[in-house]
Amino acid sequence: MIKYQLQCEAEHGFEGWFQSGDAFDAQKKRGLVECPFCGSAKVDRAIMAPAVARTDRMVPLTPHAARDQDWISMDSSQEILSSEERELRERLAELRQEMIKDADDVGENFAEEARRMHYGEKESRQIYGRTSLEEAYELVEDGISILPLPPGRDHN
Ligand SMILES: [Zn+2]
Repeated sequence: MIKYQLQCEAEHGFEGWFQSGDAFDAQKKRGLVECPFCGSAKVDRAIMAPAVARTDRMVPLTPHAARDQDWISMDSSQEILSSEERELRERLAELRQEMIKDADDVGENFAEEARRMHYGEKESRQIYGRTSLEEAYELVEDGISILPLPPGRDHN
């Protein structure tokens, strides 16, 4: 069983359990996944992804590319990590630290702050924080350059 964070077109958030990712896709296609608040069948997975914005160094990231993003699962329940996995995590954490070292943590205000800077309402600087995947796509569609940030120790 997999638990998904879901969101309907009216941005109601809820959780659903599914046999597998394929089972979710199949049920969604048949309109069987409904929002418990408004009954809408226009439901999608809401993935909270940390993201980083750079306004000085443009990194092309199209919504298409973002939707085709490959993901890898990491077993966090295992107490003893393999040395390779440990090394990978350390490298990701280092990369993350390098990426955020000059950036301000704006937490949940990431999308709002990124927009304000983009439209000149605020002085441009490097920020990082959290936003939903859908909101991240919208930022990209608005021409704001963002990148998914590797996982790290500073967010829990
Ligand atoms: Zn709803």
